[in-house]
Amino acid sequence: MPLKSWDEIQVYQNEIARIMTNSHRMDRISHSYIFEGPNGTKKTSTAFLFAKSLLCTNPDGFNPCNSCHNCRRVDNRSHPNLFYVKPQGKVIKKEQIQELLDEFSKASVEKGPRIYIIEEADKLNTTSANTLLKTMEEPGADIYQVLVTENYNALLKTIISRAETIHFKPIDRDIIRKQLLENKIEANIASAISEYTVDMGAAIKIARDDSMVSLINLVIELHKRFLDRKSSALLLFKEKAFTILDNLEFIEFFLTLMIFYEKDVLNYQLRHLEDICFSDELEVIAHLSEKMSQKYIEQNIEKMLGLKSRLKYNINNKLAFDKMLTCLERGYKYGTHCSGDTI
Ligand SMILES: [Zn+2]
Repeated sequence: MPLKSWDEIQVYQNEIARIMTNSHRMDRISHSYIFEGPNGTKKTSTAFLFAKSLLCTNPDGFNPCNSCHNCRRVDNRSHPNLFYVKPQGKVIKKEQIQELLDEFSKASVEKGPRIYIIEEADKLNTTSANTLLKTMEEPGADIYQVLVTENYNALLKTIISRAETIHFKPIDRDIIRKQLLENKIEANIASAISEYTVDMGAAIKIARDDSMVSLINLVIELHKRFLDRKSSALLLFKEKAFTILDNLEFIEFFLTLMIFYEKDVLNYQLRHLEDICFSDELEVIAHLSEKMSQKYIEQNIEKMLGLKSRLKYNINNKLAFDKMLTCLERGYKYGTHCSGDTI
């Protein structure tokens, strides 16, 4: 969904909304911006909002009207004065930049500002960067550029020095959680997802994916079983989770949530209650925290992180997860510690 106003971006990036609207009010909008920050921080959608604000024929302050012909064409990405470039393969080729500059001079371009947005600008190679720099040296009164990157340090120094950098911060997890709750997602599920991702789009996607949600519930259920000597957590895992073991995304998600839960137990021991992710499970977490020493919990987390980094090497996941769960189950139920450095 395209952003509609700077008030909307304010929810996620308060400082940036302030900087951009102030610059507009003081007539100090820069012709060259670098939008840098981690994935999921709304850099590209803000770049399009910027373009829409510049092109709108009926703006309210710096907020676009969202209904004029220009606004609609920006939202459809069909405005002839708006150019969007992203890497073809590993680099942004010189020809892509040349093509962009050629387009700029064509008759199809309408009166008014022209804006180009370059995605993954760190992938500009030296030749394409030099071609671009020529336009940046004399940008012309009505040309604006936004370079978007997650990898600021890889940008050429010459580009950085010619542009104004706007730093996008990771989105506050509380905001993600609140939005999930507003979307009628259960509190426990919302907490786990907001701990997992700061990308609102990804968060909603997970919340709507029944398999992912059932994995969150499985993590919660497994930890309840760790306290119950009459039932086996390993057995529950085998019943419920055998289908996930072929899917790397699911495995990674499940393991990450298991690690969050172990960290919760550790945080409970350390009395860092505000850092607890599964806060609705506080009673279970409190019991678990009495069953294992801090040192063992830390070692388990260490081993689980080790397992996570090995997942992509196609290790025998079934065996590894059986071992991990046996290790945790024995630890919580009987206080025994599993030997070996890895899971
Ligand atoms: Zn408009």
